[in-house]
Amino acid sequence: MHCESPIKRRLSRQIMVGNVPVGGDAPIAVQSMTNTDTCDVAATVAQIRRLEDAGADIVRVSVPDMDAAEAFGLIKRQVRVPLVADIHFDYTIALRVAELGVDCLRINPGNIGREDRVKAVVDAARDRGIPIRIGVNAGSLEKDLQKKYGEPTPEALVESALRHVEHLDRLNFPDFKVSVKASDVFMAVEAYRLLAKQIEQPLHLGITEAGGLRSGTVKSAVGLGMLLADGIGDTIRISLAADPVEEIKVGYDILKSLRLRSRGINFIACPSCSRQNFDVVKTMNELEGRLEDLLVPLDVAVIGCVVNGPGEAKEAHVGLTGGSPNLIYIDGKPAQKLTNDNLVDELERLIRRKAAEKAEADAALIVRG
Ligand code: SF4
Repeated sequence: MHCESPIKRRLSRQIMVGNVPVGGDAPIAVQSMTNTDTCDVAATVAQIRRLEDAGADIVRVSVPDMDAAEAFGLIKRQVRVPLVADIHFDYTIALRVAELGVDCLRINPGNIGREDRVKAVVDAARDRGIPIRIGVNAGSLEKDLQKKYGEPTPEALVESALRHVEHLDRLNFPDFKVSVKASDVFMAVEAYRLLAKQIEQPLHLGITEAGGLRSGTVKSAVGLGMLLADGIGDTIRISLAADPVEEIKVGYDILKSLRLRSRGINFIACPSCSRQNFDVVKTMNELEGRLEDLLVPLDVAVIGCVVNGPGEAKEAHVGLTGGSPNLIYIDGKPAQKLTNDNLVDELERLIRRKAAEKAEADAALIVRG
């Protein structure tokens, strides 16, 4: 029941990654990257399907050599989500995956070498409508830029990115997106802010090598939060040393918290204290686990007592306020009293019922509108 995000997004030139629009007025795309051996086709397909189920809009796959390129072709045929091939230096791999149906090439034109090779890749991309992602990383800045700036800086990252952009400009190829990632939040944020003023293309946001599940989530949320709140960012990847599925979940949670995208339940829960009339933490954890499959955007409040309970519960689609007895609100109105017995089961049932009703209502709106 919360309203639209107040964030005014930077208007970028839209590109298509397969059937997923990136930039312009498209929803901010959430992506991740496989960490299986690409030559292990079965394992990679299985991981991509788990990412699809978690809501990935785009998935990137490393293609380090020609064997991996052939495996990429087999993988591509078995999944629905658009695939980006991550390629470094070897332009022949880019040409091969272009033939095999890749949806986006992540390759830095400046690293390919001879101009005729860059042109061959760009021509192949143009012929097949494949966009390119330029990906600059503070950890792999060109040697001359390291020398010029002494160390990675936001300006150095942007200068590197603009060099790659110039290659594509020279070849009159505008269908690309750019990332300027660093593991340092301030460096990444400043680099993206500088770059956003200089090009019209979509920006792929990420805090690279952010850390483990908890530390990387916090770092990514802080860094991406600053940029997204500025309206910068068209697609995001959360880099975690964790199961890639977690990257998708965290990505959505960041976008949900800024009301930039909605998917599944937006939980509002109090931290609990001795006033709680039911076990808030246990109830919350159980519900989060049980309701992961729900995709309908729904606000659910789980509040331990009447101090903040009614206020929050009334603002949610489904709200529970602790009390004697506990009280459920549906769409802001008191609907039902619940005891602590079977609280989670009953709450799950009510949330699923409301989600089904809302899905039906949303679908009817789309048909009418
Ligand atoms: S809503 Fe009630 S139970 Fe929850 S933290 Fe506040 S006072 Fe404590």
